[in-house]
Amino acid sequence: MATHVKRAFKYRFYPTDAQAAELSRTFGCVRKVYNMALAARTEAWARQERVNYNQTSAMLTAWKKTEELAYLNEVSCVPLQQALRHLQSAFANFFAKRARYPRFKVKKKSRASVEYTSSAFRFRGGLLTLAKMADPLNIVWSRPLPEGVVPSTVTVSRDSAGRWFVSLLCEDPSIKPLVAAGTAVGIDVGLDHLLTLSTGEKVANPRHERRDRVRLARAQRELSRKARGDGANRRKARAKVAKIHARITDRRRDVLHKLTTRLVRENQTLVIEDLTVRTMVKNRSLARAISDAAWAEFRSMLEYKASWYGREVVAVDRFFPSSKLCSHCGTLQPEMPLSVRMWTCESCGTAHDRDVNAANNLLAAGLAVSVCGAGVRPQRRTPGGQSAMKQKTPRREP
Ligand SMILES: [Zn+2]
Repeated sequence: MATHVKRAFKYRFYPTDAQAAELSRTFGCVRKVYNMALAARTEAWARQERVNYNQTSAMLTAWKKTEELAYLNEVSCVPLQQALRHLQSAFANFFAKRARYPRFKVKKKSRASVEYTSSAFRFRGGLLTLAKMADPLNIVWSRPLPEGVVPSTVTVSRDSAGRWFVSLLCEDPSIKPLVAAGTAVGIDVGLDHLLTLSTGEKVANPRHERRDRVRLARAQRELSRKARGDGANRRKARAKVAKIHARITDRRRDVLHKLTTRLVRENQTLVIEDLTVRTMVKNRSLARAISDAAWAEFRSMLEYKASWYGREVVAVDRFFPSSKLCSHCGTLQPEMPLSVRMWTCESCGTAHDRDVNAANNLLAAGLAVSVCGAGVRPQRRTPGGQSAMKQKTPRREP
């Protein structure tokens, strides 16, 4: 095992026209290669055969020699190879039942990204130059790279608002496990508040988010009113939606980074609710969708930071009746409509804040899992990006 933690540092950059054109061309070629390889693998799958990475790599070599695909030679071959590697791990995850069947990459609109390994970029004197480019990228170094680190992989992406980012994957020697803490915390997710902690602390949603949500809803309605194919107006409306979306995401990410760092530093065990199932439900309200996205991001940050610092994240099954159960005496309340924010337990007379009570129940359930569960481990991210294991919910008698 490497002693150092790999960590991505992401920055915004402003490409020249030539660089933007080169990158757009590379995005297009990566999409083409990925989709062709996926098609080949799918056809093989239908014949009950499997195609491996080396075979797709050989296909790529053959495609480049044909007249209609000769343009693939114009871009750096590393991102194309990396796309085939990603497809390989997507299939590995599918075969291991960790993920759904890989899907085709669709054109433009949403986020696009390509990956360069060390043979396809140069990083010298704080300047990053990609293959097939004469000039280094104009990167906004919003925070410094730690002294002496060298990126092993560079990912270039463009988000739906048209902004360009570069993410540098580096070994960060400054990350070391923290001294074990004796504390544990239960964390409940909500709509009114971003999070509620078992300590009674409530973490508010990022400032302006409510107002931005209203704006986002309005912009989305405008977009859906523009007729399909109505070129310029529709493009403008879509850009507006993407811009508001990006603003919400950025502000939220900022808040989540500070929050997860603090929570992981302060606590040894962090108990959260496993919302994987719920986030798959379609037709959610906008607020719900944003809250779920925030939750997924929160969880992923919490998990990787916990693994950096030697902390434990326990995810408790969502079917656990955390709102209905009195965290003081364990009595199950028959009903608990969403509108009830404060309530008093009829058995023991304890007055509860709904969310704080839920967070306390999560904590108790999580600690039970953490202490008694045979072979129960905190959920970790595997290299394929899927969370590894499901936790069992301890049953509590009402
Ligand atoms: Zn009670």
